[in-house]
Amino acid sequence: MNPYQSIDLSNVINAAGKMTYLGSSAVSPAVAETMARSAQSFVDMASLKDAVCDRIAGLLQAEGACLASCAAAGIAVSVAACLTGNDLDRVESLPEIKGAGREVIVQKGHVVHFGANLTQMIRMTGASVREIGTVNGVRAHHLRGAIGGETAAVLYVVSHHAVSNEMLSLREVVEIAEEYGVPVIVDAAAEVDLSVYYRQGASLVVYSGHKAIGGPTSGLILGRKPLIEACRLQDKGYARAMKIGKENIMGLYAALQEYMSAGAGDAERRLLDVAERLQSEVRRRGLPGVDTRIAWDATRPIPRLQLIAEADCPLTAKALVARLEAHRPSVRTRNHLADSGIIQFDPRELKPEETAVIADILAHIVQAASAAAPAERSEPQ
Ligand SMILES: *Cc1c(COP(=O)(O)O)cnc(C)c1O
Repeated sequence: MNPYQSIDLSNVINAAGKMTYLGSSAVSPAVAETMARSAQSFVDMASLKDAVCDRIAGLLQAEGACLASCAAAGIAVSVAACLTGNDLDRVESLPEIKGAGREVIVQKGHVVHFGANLTQMIRMTGASVREIGTVNGVRAHHLRGAIGGETAAVLYVVSHHAVSNEMLSLREVVEIAEEYGVPVIVDAAAEVDLSVYYRQGASLVVYSGHKAIGGPTSGLILGRKPLIEACRLQDKGYARAMKIGKENIMGLYAALQEYMSAGAGDAERRLLDVAERLQSEVRRRGLPGVDTRIAWDATRPIPRLQLIAEADCPLTAKALVARLEAHRPSVRTRNHLADSGIIQFDPRELKPEETAVIADILAHIVQAASAAAPAERSEPQ
C-alpha cells in the first residue's frame, strides 16, 4: 500500500509518462534515501545552492546553473533575470519594470499550454509577450522586425506541445538575437538532452528536474555566467515565492548524477522491452476491434505502445480512456491522439509487472462493453 492510499486515493498505474499532474517521476531508492536524510538535517541554504549549482555546472559543462522549484518557475525566473540583470533594486521592484526592455518575443507556434499557459509565466514578472508570425509560419523578418529597444529576451520552446513545422530553428533564432545582443531563453522542460540547446547558443536553458532527469519536483536553469547570476539574485525577490527545499535540491542533484551515468542505449532497450511486453500481453487477450503498434516519439528516444480503437471496437478511444481512468487501480494513458482513435501507453514509469495488470483491465473493460450493447460507440464522450 502506498501512502496516498492511506488517505483514500486510488492507486495509479502510470502509462502516461513524466506528467506533472501525476507526480512526474518515481525517484530511485538511492535518491529517496538522500532526500530523507537531507530533510532531517540543517544546512546553510546559500552555501548548499552554491555547492550544488557549481557541481551541476561542472557536470553539464555550462558556465553556470540555477535551481528552481519547477520548470514553470525557471521560466519566470529566467525572464525576471533578463528584466533586472544584477540590479537588486530592479529585482525588488518587479513586477514594476525599471528601465527599458519589457517585451519577450515568442514565435506563435510556441505559445503552448503545458498544464498552464506559458505566456502567463512571462507576464507574471511584469513583462509583456510579443508573438511573432503565425501558427504555421515564422520567418527571420518577423523576428528582426520585432526586436527593438523594448526587447528583453526571446523565449524558444522545445516540446511536443509546440508546432514543429515552419518555425524558426533555435540556431536561426540565436544567430539573429546575437546580432542585436538579445538573450535567448529555451524552455526544454521535458527534453532528454541536457547540453544540445546550450551548445547551440542559448543564453538560458530551463529543464524540469522531475521529468527526464527523474528527480523530485524541481527545476534547473543552465546558462551563461552573468544571466545565471541574475537568475540567482531573484532569490531576494520573485523566486522567494517559488523556493526549492533542501531535500529536493539534494534529490535533484542525486538524480542528475544517476541520469548522467546511465547509458542512453540501456535506457532505450529497457523502454522498448516494457512496451513490447505490454503489446504481447494485450495481443494475447485478443480484444475485439483493437490493434496495437509500437511508435517512437517525434523528438526523443521513447517507444510507446499505441492502441488503435477500430470501427468494430465496442468503445471509442476517448470512452476507453475514461474507463481506464475510472478503474481502481486507475490506469492513466497518454491521450494527445485520442481524437484520432489512438491511445498511447508510455513505458517510462511503468513497471514490467504492471503490463499484465493493464492488459487484464483492458480486457475486462472491452469485454464488458461488448456484452452491454453495440450502441456504446455512439455515447457522447
Ligand atoms: C512540463 C512542462 C513545463 C512545466 O514544467 P514544470 O516543471 O512542471 O513546471 C513547461 N514547459 C514545457 C514545454 C513542459 O513540457
